[in-house]
Amino acid sequence: MKWYHAADGQAVGPVGEEDIQSLVKAKKIKAETLVWHSGMSDWQAYGDLKKDNFHIRPKATDITDTDAESLCSECGNSFSQEEMIRYGNSYVCADCKPAFVQKLKEGILPEDILKYAGFRIRSCAKFLDGFIITGGTVLLAAVFGIISSSGSGGSYVFQKILPYMQPVSMVIVIIYETWFVGRFGATPGKMICRIKVVTADGGRVSYLRAFGRYFATFLSGIILCIGYIMAAFDGQKRALHDRICSTRVIRK
Ligand SMILES: [Zn+2]
Repeated sequence: MKWYHAADGQAVGPVGEEDIQSLVKAKKIKAETLVWHSGMSDWQAYGDLKKDNFHIRPKATDITDTDAESLCSECGNSFSQEEMIRYGNSYVCADCKPAFVQKLKEGILPEDILKYAGFRIRSCAKFLDGFIITGGTVLLAAVFGIISSSGSGGSYVFQKILPYMQPVSMVIVIIYETWFVGRFGATPGKMICRIKVVTADGGRVSYLRAFGRYFATFLSGIILCIGYIMAAFDGQKRALHDRICSTRVIRK
């Protein structure tokens, strides 16, 4: 196919397809440079033409070589991953990049772009929460201990309360998990680690879902915590309780 391209108001050509490629590389032909080849009704900017024609490539499933292809999250066309920029789990092609970066600046994030929090940071948050809850419970027990040792009246209170300590601390944990996740999307441990629980589409988690999610963590905890470890091997880094409750943990 013979091409013509505009240079200083003149039509230059005919040149071959390969010449066009090298002219593009040499920046002699830019996105706004007008080009024409037989079969085209009119001259067109090279960038626009590229968008219309060149983006139509075989789908990733048709490719048998190792060159991995992905769909651009903006225009939906297929490209080699090497030519694209990666953002979270999404790829954006070179042509869509400027508009995409602009969107990022304006804070308009596409829904499917969530930065999933990995197994390690989540374990770290879990550890911190455990530390906070245990610390709180010990403090509470110490307060009752002081009350009980400061007179017979206190001892009576302590004896009355002691049998309830176990269920009370259980209730504290449930309230801790449900209220913090429902209200802020994160427990204090998660806040420190700058991670957050969201719905599959990145939305807010309701109190009810947070409540259910807490109980679903029991399932993740049984059999050597396999349900938790699942997060390390999942594409969206979901633990078992995330799958059950349709939640994701993301980095803020
Ligand atoms: Zn694109």
